[in-house]
Amino acid sequence: MTDPNTTYTREYARELDQKDPLASYRSEFYLIEQMIYLDGNSLGLLSKRAEKTLLELLHSWKTLGIEGWTEGDYPWFYLSESLGEKMAPLLGADREEVLITGSTTSNLHQLVATFFKPDEKKNKILADELAFPTDIYALQSQLKLQGLDPQEHLFKVISADGHTIDEEVIIDAMTEDIALIVLPSILYRSGQILDMERLTKEAHNRDILIGFDLCHSIGAIPHELSKWGVDFAFWCNYKHLNGGPGAVGGLYVNQRHFGQQPGLAGWFSSKKEKQFDMAHELTPALHAGAFQMGTPHVLSIAPLIGSLSMFHEVGIEKIRTKSLRLTSYMLELIEQKLKEYEFKIRNPKEEKNRGGHIFLEHPEAARICKALKANQIIPDFRSPNGIRLAPVALYNTFEEVWLTIDKLKQIMDEEQYKKFENKRGVVA
Ligand SMILES: *Cc1c(COP(=O)(O)O)cnc(C)c1O
Repeated sequence: MTDPNTTYTREYARELDQKDPLASYRSEFYLIEQMIYLDGNSLGLLSKRAEKTLLELLHSWKTLGIEGWTEGDYPWFYLSESLGEKMAPLLGADREEVLITGSTTSNLHQLVATFFKPDEKKNKILADELAFPTDIYALQSQLKLQGLDPQEHLFKVISADGHTIDEEVIIDAMTEDIALIVLPSILYRSGQILDMERLTKEAHNRDILIGFDLCHSIGAIPHELSKWGVDFAFWCNYKHLNGGPGAVGGLYVNQRHFGQQPGLAGWFSSKKEKQFDMAHELTPALHAGAFQMGTPHVLSIAPLIGSLSMFHEVGIEKIRTKSLRLTSYMLELIEQKLKEYEFKIRNPKEEKNRGGHIFLEHPEAARICKALKANQIIPDFRSPNGIRLAPVALYNTFEEVWLTIDKLKQIMDEEQYKKFENKRGVVA
């Protein structure tokens, strides 16, 4: 560590930016003028490449009409599969195991409808009490569709500190009656990374299937889903992958499960050569394509094509390295500059357990976030008292991290937050 007196200056942050090998990617994005955007883990920014591929697909509609299904640079009929192939390296997956389709929630429904097969002995689902609500709602409704009471059949692992989940406690909860486990790869509030490899191994030792919600890890950290043997996974593409609002989501199914009938079938679950036979007997694709339902949302996939090309070029390892440097630097500044205030750092501090964002708690969090916004800094408020700050590797800078913490200190010193009501907005 260098001398703290220099480390904590704006000049030092600028030096870090000058030495940053990914610095050139910032100009690939439409940055919002005068704004420090630290919410890329909720909605990533638009890139020029994403805009370009969106316009290209619009153009294919304009110039090809229905021929666009099979013609042009990105034939629509194969988009879910072809983009799945491009995304496979981010997942450590075989190209046939990945499909771009649906949304986080609809993919979770599909996967649970396919893989949860309760019997006399095994008829419970294991999740965690800090899970994102949509995951819990989906699991509850899947249980009800099977005629099972969620109160009894959905077991949620308890968090001891309200922020993180102890893997030992998860493993202890893998009892004989558990048929299926659904957990996040990274917890959406605290940013804790769960050890997917270990949990998968322990689940399989007990004859339990396991799947992960990758919303906060896709595009932020590397994955080795195939090597780890994870049964299935699902995610959205509008957070770290910058696919745009409402971007089509993704799913992964391990190849050992190929050939199964999808729980929720549709004509796009078909083997491609068979689909237009229009038979009433489904012949499912022999890869992850079996879990697609209907026509792909072509224009909502389009930006992802351009955005993903940057992830390809850079590689997820380098993105992770820079992300950790940014969050480490932010933590250092928080500890140095904000120690007199009541901020509690709730994300894990060790790098191996820390995802792509910082999570702070403060009793005045709602209005501190409003004060940050009034100062052109975009955080993410999480009720009741959480502030998420996500410096993103491809477009945020060390100087922005420095400016953010500097501004936060000023907001606290001057009690600027007192001008606002301590209440969340409708979308927060
Ligand atoms: C963002 C997010 C979702 C969102 O689900 P959608 O179906 O895309 O609306 C689900 N789960 C987690 C953990 C998330 O972070």
